[in-house]
Amino acid sequence: MAENDAQAGLFDKIVNLSKRRGFVFQSAEIYGGFRSTYDYGPLGVLLLRNVKDAWWRSMVQLRHDIVGLDASVLSPPAVWEASGHLSNFTDPLVDCTNCHTRHRLDKLDDPDVCPSCGTSGSLTEAREFNLMFRTHAGPMLESAAEVYLRPETAQGMFINFANVLQTSRKRPPFGIAQIGKSFRNEITPGNFVFRTREFEQMEMEFFVPPAESPQWYDYWCKERMEWYRDLGMPADKLRLRPHGEDELSHYSTGTSDVEFLFPWGWDELEGIANRGDYDLKQHAEHSGERLEYFDQATNEHYVPHVIEPAAGATRTAMAFLMAAYHEDEVNDDTRVVLRLDPRLAPYKVAVLPLSKKDALTPTAHEIFDIVKGRWMADYDETQAIGKRYRRQDEVGTPYCVTVDFDTLDDRAVTVRDRDTMDQDRVSIDRLEEYLGERLG
Ligand code: ATP
Repeated sequence: MAENDAQAGLFDKIVNLSKRRGFVFQSAEIYGGFRSTYDYGPLGVLLLRNVKDAWWRSMVQLRHDIVGLDASVLSPPAVWEASGHLSNFTDPLVDCTNCHTRHRLDKLDDPDVCPSCGTSGSLTEAREFNLMFRTHAGPMLESAAEVYLRPETAQGMFINFANVLQTSRKRPPFGIAQIGKSFRNEITPGNFVFRTREFEQMEMEFFVPPAESPQWYDYWCKERMEWYRDLGMPADKLRLRPHGEDELSHYSTGTSDVEFLFPWGWDELEGIANRGDYDLKQHAEHSGERLEYFDQATNEHYVPHVIEPAAGATRTAMAFLMAAYHEDEVNDDTRVVLRLDPRLAPYKVAVLPLSKKDALTPTAHEIFDIVKGRWMADYDETQAIGKRYRRQDEVGTPYCVTVDFDTLDDRAVTVRDRDTMDQDRVSIDRLEEYLGERLG
């Protein structure tokens, strides 16, 4: 119970910190708020960008066998007809006849009991509800002008398979990676940014010779788990959960979820699936294009199989926030500190002149100029220095650089470490090198 309370407390603390320090705001708040839609504030946009950059770096920059893509959000029905989303991308929806709330049948603990009012037998028969957002291109609200907002980024990679193959001169095994917004008309959005109607995904489709797909599936499960661990996700909050036979899509021969221990229990950050040749075959059949690879060594055409690691950027950013949140006891006081990996921290360095006195300003600006080209830095000269340290701890800034009156004589500054709170006196000439050794 104590553990449950602590976990429920953590959720409230993260929501509160996010609002108070400018990570995440309720969208359209001044108009009463638009439910389940969020805006990323000055710190949230940096955290989210760092998560996406870390993914892009490991998936695209550091690999010779994966290339990037940025496909459109709007797409014609033909794409979703072929992918199966028009007929299958549905959730079973039930209504409670007692309290008039709506629920996803597949997420209920007991399919006969309303989770809102607890009434037994009050739920209607399930109706299949398509999660895609539909709109119209151009001025005519007619069915011929219907288009969809993509519910996943993945289809962009499949429909550009031939374009990328020809222009990049890659050959299987190779991948196409994309980061971008996706939209789902979720029936039960909630848990803050965990499930929203507009969110960001980081997806990669890895095209392989059919016989090699089991080994590449194992490879990507390991590789993706390692990405989270390397960025500081604690081992006891991260697990890989293989899907049972009954959970698998009809075309998948293997799917595993990367799960994080959220305050409400284990839940998904990413799905890794062996999708076989389903997607390329569907699009080949519906478009009439040949979506194959010609292997010159064997003189054969074949349809590559696909391994897909599909992660949520917004969800993952929140998981990193939760994993990083700590409360330390320091001198009978509680210190909130985000132990974010420096690569994910919104600010890497904060420049803090000890006082607002004019005498310190030019040197403090000089320090800011030294660091700003290499690292995202904050500059803060208000409040007592102790309070400013705590404000930086609370948003995960790894290093605070203080300019004091001695600096004017010795041309040295105090550098404070977020985690140990140790302070070093470092000469201004050596500051960039000192920080570089620690931040990279
Ligand atoms: P769920 O079962 O939670 O609805 P899913 O299995 O349908 O998710 P995928 O289609 O595999 O999700 O999407 C890949 C990733 O995209 C998910 O692991 C998740 O991180 C993210 N994602 C999916 N839907 C949402 C959403 N509504 N809000 C935020 N992130 C989402």
